[in-house]
Parts: sequence; C-alpha cells; structure tokens
Amino acid sequence: MTTLDDIRRCAALLDALPDPALLVGADRRVITANSAARELFAATLDGTSVVSHIRQPEAAAALERGFAALAEGTGSRGPFEARMVLTASSREALWRVCIAPLRNDLGVPALLVTLRDISHIEDAEQQRRDFVANVSHEMRSPLTVLSGFIETLKGPARHDPEAQEQFLDIMEREAQRMSRLVSDLLSLSRVESEERVRPRTPVSLSEVLRATLAALRPQIEDAGLAVEFRDLPDAPAIPGDRDQLVQVFHNLVENALKYGAGGGKIEIDIERIDHVPAMPGPALKVCVRDHGDGIDPIHLPRLTERFYRVDGHRSRAMGGTGLGLAIVKHIVNRHRGRLNIRSTRGEGSSFIVMLPER
Ligand code: ADP
Repeated sequence: MTTLDDIRRCAALLDALPDPALLVGADRRVITANSAARELFAATLDGTSVVSHIRQPEAAAALERGFAALAEGTGSRGPFEARMVLTASSREALWRVCIAPLRNDLGVPALLVTLRDISHIEDAEQQRRDFVANVSHEMRSPLTVLSGFIETLKGPARHDPEAQEQFLDIMEREAQRMSRLVSDLLSLSRVESEERVRPRTPVSLSEVLRATLAALRPQIEDAGLAVEFRDLPDAPAIPGDRDQLVQVFHNLVENALKYGAGGGKIEIDIERIDHVPAMPGPALKVCVRDHGDGIDPIHLPRLTERFYRVDGHRSRAMGGTGLGLAIVKHIVNRHRGRLNIRSTRGEGSSFIVMLPER
C-alpha cells in the first residue's frame, strides 16, 4: 500500500532532480511530478493522464512497453527509451524520454518517466556531419580537376607542349587551393582545441600590424589599393599569441584586398577604448575598413561560420577557402575579445577587433 507519506517522499526526491521526472501509476495517471516536469508540461500534473502529455508515436509506444512490463509484473525490465520534440520556454527542443518500471519490491506498480534535453548533442552532431560533408565537397572539386588533367596529359595532350604548359598551370593552382584548404583546416582545429586557454604573452599590436602588412606587400601591390595604417604609437602591449594575431589581421586585410577592390583604399586604425560592454577593463580596437561592394546585412550573422560565403563562385575564383573568418572568430574568442562586422551595400565593410588590455 502506498501511503500519502510515500508519495510525499517520492515528490521530494524527484524535486531534487534537475531534469523533468514523473511517477506514473499502472492506471496511467501521474502520481507525482517534479517542478521541471510541471514547467515543461503543465502546472498541475498530479492525477492527469500521462498519455495526454506524451503523445508523439515513438514516445507513446515506449510508454506502452512500460505499462506492458508493469502488467506482466516484470517490474525490473526496461528502461524503454524514445526521442520526442517538445517546446520548452518557447524553444523547440529534442528530448530523450526514459521510461523505467519501478522494482516490484517497492510495492508500488509505477513507472518513472524522466526526460533529458538532448538538443545540444543533436546540434553538435549535425554540425559535425555538415562539416565533414563540406570538407569533402571542397576537396572533391580540385581533385576532379587534377585527375581530369592528368588523363588529358597522358592521352590527347601527350605531344602538345603548349597545352601541357597551360594545363600544368591550372593543376598548380588547384594543388595550391587544396594545400590552402588543408592548412586552414589545421589552423582551425589547432585554434579550436586551444580556445579555452587564454594566451598571456605581451604582444604589441602595432608590430603585429606592421608585420602583417609587410607580409602582404605583394598582394597589396597586385590589388593596386592604397593601405592607410593609422598606428597608435604608445599603445600598451596586450596579453596574446603573436602568431595567431598576425593570422587574424592577415585574414582581414587579405579579405579587404580581395573584396574591397575598386574601393581605392583600405584603412586600418588602432584605437584605445576605455569600456567595452562585458569586458572588464580598457581594450585596443583595430578596425580594418574597405570601400568595396559591402555585404548585405542578412549575411552578417553567419559570416564567421565555417564555409559560409556570400558568393561561393567569387570566393573560390579568388582562392578563398571559406574558413578565414571562422579562424578569426576563434582566435578573437581565445583572446577573450570581440569581433564586430559593419557593412553597407555599395559602401564597403569594417571588421572591428576589440582585444582586452588585461
Ligand atoms: P573566403 O575564403 O571565402 O574569403 P572568409 O571566411 O574569409 O572566406 O569570408 C567569408 C565570406 O565573407 C567571403 O566568402 C565573402 O563572401 C565575405 N567577406 C569577407 N570579407 C569581406 C569583405 N571585406 N567585403 C565583402 N565580403 C567579405
């Protein structure tokens, strides 16, 4: 016999669980539930029929298996599991439902139904699948070009030195594209794995920017753009990883050169700011501004996603891997900094990096 006290004890126990949990009798009615379950389903759950709350076919079938196990008296069988989509705090979430018949010796024929929000696991899995699909797709096109030209060089173009030279040039470009992709993938994986460890070596951003611009001199000359660098001579050193910061500004200036063509000039400023929301103290702000075509605002929130491109064709034609801004974002995060992107169609774009001074 279950007494009122037993139920009170069960309710106290369930309330200590962070995930929604319901104790359901063999008559399918909720004996008691914890506050997480009441928040998810309804404020008053006790006495209501569980099948009115758990209706999705897969979960309902798992419940039925639970009740069948209760009826057979094989109370220790299970647990029975299912996945179901429910809306919690106006957000759709994927839940794993676990239905466990209670042991017979407890004297209460009942099921313990617990739910766990597994949306983030599902999202991470989806991202991993997308990433693998994207990498394979990016690798496949240069490989197809290379194997096509190898065939041609072995066959029809075997005795055609002019065609050979032309094809070898294309093959060289495609091989370079693959090698850029591999080195960007390696950078990304390195930065991601180190993201939790904040770098602490004092770094001068002025030196980082001067080194970046020196390394990009050939591209700057090819692009025919003027680069105006407004340095801040007495800027303090910031805690950082110099090579990674060079990579940040290399990617941003390279993008400004690629996508800012026709805009005449690129401006780079360093500024000191006393307060950035959610940052503990003063910060150094570097703005890389171009006067190119700009970016439609709808793309801005997704620009730092891996392989996200506004115009895939244009990016690939210019040798882009689609990973540059993803690398920038991870490095800035590792430095506990902030990346803001502002852009107006037809006027150009500003990529603003804010890095804390302490
Ligand atoms: P990609 O290798 O394609 O340049 P990025 O991650 O560096 O990859 O940039 C992602 C996309 O963002 C680019 O494909 C481009 O569409 C857009 N983008 C980046 N920088 C600029 C810029 N300065 N002006 C306009 N569009 C830009």
